[in-house]
Amino acid sequence: MAILIVGAGFSGAVIARELAEAGISSTVIDARDHIAGNCHTERCPQTGVMLHRYGPHIFHTDDAEVWSYVGARATFMPFRNQVKSTVGGQVFSMPINLHTINQFFGTTLRPAEAQAFIAARAVKSDQPPASFEEQALHMVGPDLYEAFFKGYTEKQWGRSPRDLPASILKRLPMRFNYDDNYFNHRFQGIPAEGYTHLVARLLDHPKIALHLSTPYSADLAARHDHLFWSGPLDGYFGYRLGRLGYRTLDFERFTDTGDHQGCAVMNYPGADVPFTRITEHKHFAPWEQHDQTVCYREYAREAGEGDIPYYPIRLAAEQSLLTEYEALARAEQGVTFVGRLGTYRYLDMDVTIREALDVARAFLARAA
Ligand code: FAD
Ligand code: UDP
Repeated sequence: MAILIVGAGFSGAVIARELAEAGISSTVIDARDHIAGNCHTERCPQTGVMLHRYGPHIFHTDDAEVWSYVGARATFMPFRNQVKSTVGGQVFSMPINLHTINQFFGTTLRPAEAQAFIAARAVKSDQPPASFEEQALHMVGPDLYEAFFKGYTEKQWGRSPRDLPASILKRLPMRFNYDDNYFNHRFQGIPAEGYTHLVARLLDHPKIALHLSTPYSADLAARHDHLFWSGPLDGYFGYRLGRLGYRTLDFERFTDTGDHQGCAVMNYPGADVPFTRITEHKHFAPWEQHDQTVCYREYAREAGEGDIPYYPIRLAAEQSLLTEYEALARAEQGVTFVGRLGTYRYLDMDVTIREALDVARAFLARAA
């Protein structure tokens, strides 16, 4: 059976590996000249710093099987994302925790006092919050919303938080203690040698043939019995019904000596600053030593043709187009649509790997 896998990111690499271990050969192609998709990491030739080329990636999961799957192929170093946020000339702790609250309001509240204090400010409603703005007002009240969320979200999404779903904010925790870990998950870390090394280990198997700088073409598919597609869902169909909307990112790189900002991620929620955050990449590998440092200013904008699609927008217009593309996808014989682009969803790496494992196993069970 001849299998073609489009995309050498986590989706494609995990599926290829699972099939290979079951004795099934596959060809993996990627339009880019490197593996690992958007999780690609590479060493800066000038400074030696490990760079996350498409934005910073921290592995965090509660899925014990996925954690041991990646841990069997790479050494994971413990990493805790402790994000800071510069607002009105002061630096605060993110996600919002007791330190943020006490610093912002000039108080010395204890956990239960802070909870009551925020509850008194929160905007109450009989209906569950539907929009991002309603969710934020319900969770933190207007002062913290205006300072930390409103401007950042307008820049990130190019839309009013009134028009965005509450689910976007629900990704962030809020705590009434001094825990400033950005994630709640049980397992968190970053591979010591970067994500590209991990994906290379997955693809390193005699039953996997890898071709980089190779965009998909229909004649390639005609020579295979089954296609796993981790490219854009609308792209597979030649965008014939229109384009699914994405936000893209521009990274403005600069270098410095020593330590530029003292942390990995500094957010800038203010509407007066055009970027959303600055990431300093050597802080994602605190086990390494470098004299120089590399930072990226991150700007978000609407993705046009030819831009890298990063964040699916998934508002009403996109949802109805998505439903139409999903109907086309269901009718397509011999193709499985996978991953963040193939299913037009924001997927963290652990969910991507979980879904790829499940897809491969279901395929193998059918083939048996
Ligand atoms: P991708 O990595 O996008 O791989 C798809 C591949 O398909 C690409 O290499 C592409 O070149 C190739 N391709 C597309 N079309 C074609 C074609 N026509 N022909 C050939 N090849 C094609 N997740 C976390 O868990 N933690 C984080 O901290 C985190 N940070 C993130 C930060 C940002 C800015 C973003 C946008 C995402 C972040 N993620 C994070 C999510 C993570 O990037 C995804 O989970 C992961 O990339 C999904 O893997 P994938 O293989 O599905 O897709
Ligand atoms: N967000 C914000 N201020 C911040 C950080 C996040 O308003 O300082 C909002 C923003 O809308 C973002 C969402 O919360 O899209 C989810 O944040 P997360 O850090 O998970 O964003 P991602 O990892 O998707 O970039």
